[in-house]
Amino acid sequence: MEGLSLIFLGPPGSGKGTQAELFERQFGLKKISTGDLLRDAIRRGTELGKLAKEYINKGELVPDDVVVALVEEVLGKTSDGYILDGFPRTIEQAKSLDRILEKLGKKLDAAVLFAVPDDEIIRRLSARRICPKCHAVYNLVTKPPKEDEICDVCGTPLEMRDDDKPETVRRRIEVYRKDTELLVDFYRKKGLLVEVKAVGNPEEVFEFITNALKR
Ligand SMILES: [Zn+2]
Repeated sequence: MEGLSLIFLGPPGSGKGTQAELFERQFGLKKISTGDLLRDAIRRGTELGKLAKEYINKGELVPDDVVVALVEEVLGKTSDGYILDGFPRTIEQAKSLDRILEKLGKKLDAAVLFAVPDDEIIRRLSARRICPKCHAVYNLVTKPPKEDEICDVCGTPLEMRDDDKPETVRRRIEVYRKDTELLVDFYRKKGLLVEVKAVGNPEEVFEFITNALKR
């Protein structure tokens, strides 16, 4: 598993972020998430960070070329294996990634698709709570706070994000499926797609993934 270059594809609530962290800890693969890259670039006040901040302040999506440039920057500095979490989201981004990797003389080993039934996604996301004050994230099923619906860190009552309400989750899943189908085809044609059943506890899913990658 060490040194692999992977993409994790999966719906919101599929646990791919958690798995990426497990892989990072276990095999030293660097977890690269576009959300983290953006936050980090903004915090450090880099040129790309300043650019991204302008869009975010206007309430707009950060454009592809900024996100792609951030990914290119971090991959250029990454000599060991890595996991891309949340990138690529579109075919255009996937093609940009191909160009970046070619330029750097690197290759991709697999695109891991986390398969989760819709009902299960809705069930997981409706258990998610966030702290409105310190933004800590909890899950009433998998990562409950010590005290009922109260933030462990700052003691504030937890809230459900509007994004996690069932009606909204159904819409998010539809959007996800539409975008992801194209990506799935793209990587299947390249012979890189590895589909895993992402149902069960994190240790079980971790084992499904490592077994699938060994094959
Ligand atoms: Zn808090």
